[in-house]
Amino acid sequence: MLTIGCHLSIAKGFAAMGADALDIGANTFAFFTRNPRGGSVRALDLDDVARLRAIMEEHSFGRLVAHAPYTYNPCSAKEHAREFALQAMREDLERLEALPGNLYNFHPGSHVGQGVERGIELIVDTLCTVMEPTQRTCVLLETMAGKGTEVGSRFEELAQIIEGVCVRRPELSDLLGVCLDTCHVSDAGYDIIHDLDGVLAEFDRVVGLDRLKAVHINDSKNPCGAHKDRHARIGEGYLGAVELGGGEDVFAAIVSHPALRDLPFILETPNELAGYAREIELLRGLSDAASCGK
Ligand code: FE
Ligand code: FE
Ligand code: ZN
Repeated sequence: MLTIGCHLSIAKGFAAMGADALDIGANTFAFFTRNPRGGSVRALDLDDVARLRAIMEEHSFGRLVAHAPYTYNPCSAKEHAREFALQAMREDLERLEALPGNLYNFHPGSHVGQGVERGIELIVDTLCTVMEPTQRTCVLLETMAGKGTEVGSRFEELAQIIEGVCVRRPELSDLLGVCLDTCHVSDAGYDIIHDLDGVLAEFDRVVGLDRLKAVHINDSKNPCGAHKDRHARIGEGYLGAVELGGGEDVFAAIVSHPALRDLPFILETPNELAGYAREIELLRGLSDAASCGK
């Protein structure tokens, strides 16, 4: 069975996200580790976390994919911004120990004119500082669209970051991975519409498919290579809409690909819960149809 869910609001707490997930037919979900705009976090309610863990166990949830707020920029040119990202990521990882065995994904950041190489260096520094070999959360770099000076839109850049951390702290290797965002990779210029196999073969060659731990499944409001990062609902963008050159078969191929089908899929489409429920049903249907056809 497909492990699929969407990004949920943490406003009502952890157990409430579990209940929302069940309501929409999800068996995983994503959430921001804190308010994306503010720095402060509520104290962790351990009873609430325990209630979520019970729901997850009872309903055989897959791994959750916590998302670091977009406001972290570990490769900013400003020291205080880097320091904020570092402290916040360290705190997020400490808090996630209450929910062991899940995933934490973050945007590598924007180098803001310092150059990709310097950006990569700063991201490696941050990861080497905030991660501990004893942590039970796997940290995922997200594939980016390449908007502005974003680092991580090329597989080579992600590979360099992982390699950089592994050289300095080999004991962290098993705790590092990648989250592939379908809108972002297409916007970055990887043609998953016509050649998903080829793109994943390239990922395997450059990064290694064993590093791939989660998928953000989104349609894109822009064509392949646009470097824009604007998510569309499934079937309403360049990946899924026939009139834009895509189609349902693009998403059928994504959810049934042997390299992807067992990973957690997270929707980050512009939707309310009812819309997410429909997308989950659609993608589960495409996945079932593909597995029957074999
Ligand atoms: Fe993201
Ligand atoms: Fe994403
Ligand atoms: Zn995005």
